[in-house]
Amino acid sequence: MNLIFLGAPGAGKGTQAEYISEELNIPTISTGNMLRAAVKAGTDYGLKAKEAMDSGALVSDDIVIGILKDRILEDDCKNGFILDGFPRTVVQAQALDNMGVTIDKVVEINVADEKIQQRLSGRRVCESCGNSYHIDFKPTKVDGVCDACGGKTVIRKDDEPATVLSRLATYHEVTAPLKDYYQAQGKLVTVDGQEEIADTKKLTLEAVKA
Ligand code: ADP
Ligand code: ZN
Repeated sequence: MNLIFLGAPGAGKGTQAEYISEELNIPTISTGNMLRAAVKAGTDYGLKAKEAMDSGALVSDDIVIGILKDRILEDDCKNGFILDGFPRTVVQAQALDNMGVTIDKVVEINVADEKIQQRLSGRRVCESCGNSYHIDFKPTKVDGVCDACGGKTVIRKDDEPATVLSRLATYHEVTAPLKDYYQAQGKLVTVDGQEEIADTKKLTLEAVKA
């Protein structure tokens, strides 16, 4: 099964994608995580992506389409995959269609903007491995220390309040039109992501299995 998880930054699509990934035993592909790894490694495209990412803007379609294309050709994607954070523009969605992959479902995690601002302010990520946490909803066992690798958890630069506002604006402007795009293909399912993470997980699994 090939799935796309769609939603505003901080709607919890990453958390839901990871959960479904375990349930279905298929990998999650997060373009955001791949880009952050590239920035850290100082690769060519990492350097190009860094400025856009820090300011909360999107990285150019060429770059993300390129990395995604290579990634889904890897062996572990043979039985399916979950895309978390890709596509984010209609151009990216068209590129995906042109790669000849069949997307089975597009799961939209829907959360109101006010709630998102509150959630992102509590988000923390591990400097070393990139795992995501939340001070209220998904705390680390030891404050400031990653459960997975023992690295230090920090506030992402693009989670600062002013940057969050511009990421939300970008989402509504260039990413939300993908809802119509996939609705027209009969693939869109919307899950209410306002409630407890456990409730959303249940709804998400139902949506995926329906
Ligand atoms: P979030 O969903 O919380 O905004 P991500 O980790 O998915 O965060 O992405 C972080 C940043 O990486 C984005 O703000 C953007 O700059 C860049 N990025 C990730 N995926 C894409 C994409 N598909 N197209 C363009 N930029 C992307
Ligand atoms: Zn870690």
